[in-house]
Amino acid sequence: MDGRALAERIRAEVANEVSGLDRAPGLATVLVGDDAASDIYIRNKHKAAREAGIDALDHRLPQDASEEDVLGLVQELNDKDEIDAVLVQLPLPKGIDENKVIRAVEPVKDVDGFHPFNAGQLYLGEPTHVPATPLGILALLDEYDVDLDGASAVVIGRSQIVGKPVAHLLLQRNATVTLCHSRTRDLADRARGADVLVVATGRAGLVGAEDVKEGATVVDVGINRTETGIVGDVDAAAAERAGLVTPVPGGVGPMTIAMLLSSTVRAARYRRGELAYPLE
Ligand code: NAP
Repeated sequence: MDGRALAERIRAEVANEVSGLDRAPGLATVLVGDDAASDIYIRNKHKAAREAGIDALDHRLPQDASEEDVLGLVQELNDKDEIDAVLVQLPLPKGIDENKVIRAVEPVKDVDGFHPFNAGQLYLGEPTHVPATPLGILALLDEYDVDLDGASAVVIGRSQIVGKPVAHLLLQRNATVTLCHSRTRDLADRARGADVLVVATGRAGLVGAEDVKEGATVVDVGINRTETGIVGDVDAAAAERAGLVTPVPGGVGPMTIAMLLSSTVRAARYRRGELAYPLE
């Protein structure tokens, strides 16, 4: 499953949608501290946003910023009418309560979908803002016409960012979902029963080729830096047994930014009253 090609198409569609709006959507990012990986993620998000015609504003606070400083900036961005989307890059430096900061973002501007209101909407089966990576996974499965209705879907990893939300999206599409994690006893057996297997653990090679059912659809979310380069959580040899598989890199990764842009336009539409946001 070619995430690069689909992401490129979605980004072009977003750019087209943006050009039809009365003004460019505003996306504000907040980066606290000097984490090198976060800096790269933010740069990539800004570049992609600019290319799509989104007004991206880069807010940075020093490593020693206080929780009050971060909460104050988030409030300022909540209050600005020209800002449609607020994204706080995680992780935050030690000493800052991430949950408190996530709760401070105005839900309609929370394009990451981490605010309890948006997470709750997904749980209720009425998704509003949903985290970008799970959205990208569903978009890829749809692009390749993967039949989810009644399928056995196994998700390995239960993070708030990937595992849990993707399990909810699959459930909503009538898959029978098994959510596995580090305490799951018979992980390999469960994986082997999956028509659709989504692996998001950050453990290189956790799922071996023998753990994949013949003809299954495999979504490898993992990004692991090894001596041989970037690899996923699924052994590359699994591609021979799987019917469809996402490569790493070039599968889920490119989809995440594309879906973030798409969510930013959705936030702009919510705020213009073109789409109904349940809290407004
Ligand atoms: P995370 O918050 O660290 O969660 C990892 C999950 O994997 C946890 O639920 C953990 O179980 C489970 N796990 C760990 N070891 C396991 C094992 N041996 N067997 C079964 N389950 C195990 O990670 P994340 O943020 O979801 O990210 C997961 C991976 O996806 C990482 O490699 C990350 O870089 C990548 N990622 C990629 C994208 C993208 O755009 N492509 C986006 C986000 C994340 P417990 O809950 O029991 O600890």
